[in-house]
Amino acid sequence: MGKRNFSKRVSYRTSDAMSKFVLAQDPETISFAGGLPDNNLFPVEELKHAYEEVLRTEGNLAFQYTSTCGDIKLRELVGKNLFKRWNKTIPADNIVLTEGSQQALDLLGKLFLDDGDIALIEEPGYLGTIQAWSMYSDNLIGIPQDEYGIDTDYLEEKLKELKDLIKVLYVVPDFSNPAGTCLEIKRRLKLVELSEKYNFYIVEDLAYSLLSYDHETYPPLVTLSDSNKIITIGSFSKILSPGLRTGFIIAPKDITQIIVRLKEGTDLCSGTLNQKLIYHFYKLGYLEKHVEKLRVAYRTKRDSLKKALDEKFKDIAKWNFPQGGFFFFLVFPEWVDAYKLAETALEQKTSFVPGEEFFVSKRGKNTARISFSQVSPEKMAEGIKRLHIAWELYKEKEEVFL
Ligand code: PMP
Repeated sequence: MGKRNFSKRVSYRTSDAMSKFVLAQDPETISFAGGLPDNNLFPVEELKHAYEEVLRTEGNLAFQYTSTCGDIKLRELVGKNLFKRWNKTIPADNIVLTEGSQQALDLLGKLFLDDGDIALIEEPGYLGTIQAWSMYSDNLIGIPQDEYGIDTDYLEEKLKELKDLIKVLYVVPDFSNPAGTCLEIKRRLKLVELSEKYNFYIVEDLAYSLLSYDHETYPPLVTLSDSNKIITIGSFSKILSPGLRTGFIIAPKDITQIIVRLKEGTDLCSGTLNQKLIYHFYKLGYLEKHVEKLRVAYRTKRDSLKKALDEKFKDIAKWNFPQGGFFFFLVFPEWVDAYKLAETALEQKTSFVPGEEFFVSKRGKNTARISFSQVSPEKMAEGIKRLHIAWELYKEKEEVFL
């Protein structure tokens, strides 16, 4: 056998969906593909002010390495403020700042998984987690979601079957990517109970938790229990700017110490300047106001997408009505291949992500993630009109006459 220079992991699961549909940059395309925040909503003036404040108060240190666990002031702020609605304070020692929450996911894969180890992921589940964890083990198992989030009865059956083999479970409790679901409170409590009973860790990802449009979300798992089996990750990408690449991990102190060791092998410290910028942005009172503004803007977009879908796709597909986040998740009839539909849609200058990308089990061929975050309310109807034209053309190609 010839010498293999590269590691085995380079041949693990890959997907071309991101480059093909999400990064399609034709300016005439109305894209429902990206889970990116709206460029027009970045608070540029306030960031400018916060940046000046960083330079004025922090001086040269803003350009120095920081510690691997991240800027102490921002860690304290995350611990004191992000969970105060739930009367919970988290000590800074339990927090590690990361280069976006994608780095958090990678570090957690590195922490938990050797090749062949089992990790459970809600299904459909976040592609970034599937990609990150697939690099450490090719043994990811999907646990189905319904309209109330991950199915805890199904999960319990799986736990009984696989017992000690399960190391970790990943969920997005609020407005999941891609399903848009919000995990009901009963199931949150059940998850915590199961993790204690069957001795596995839960990674809860709060990427969209502050972007709720109709009512406040339910409490995050970390506020529901003092269990040392809960690891929480979060991000400033959706509530401020993904370009600042800042996220965080909250974990018991013995685990954050290991994570810091693992992180040292990656970057020895994430961007100091960005962490300080976020800290000052918050201190100046901008973050809370900005999140309020985002809620109003994204609610309007969500409502106009719903209207457009109701008009054109009501008899064709079924979907959830997301109470927050960025996504509608469409389920078409069984015979539909959403990947082919997405290719036809691209020709019609609109795009979405085929849902099968979010299923480790490779099911979900007939599903689609439609994101409203980047489309203006005025263009929503036009985009869905194009998608409907693509649908008609796709049906003709498949020779299906309903
Ligand atoms: N988790 C979820 C559920 C996401 O949707 C995203 C971004 N699409 C991330 C994590 C990663 O975000 P970032 O690395 O920008 O913090």
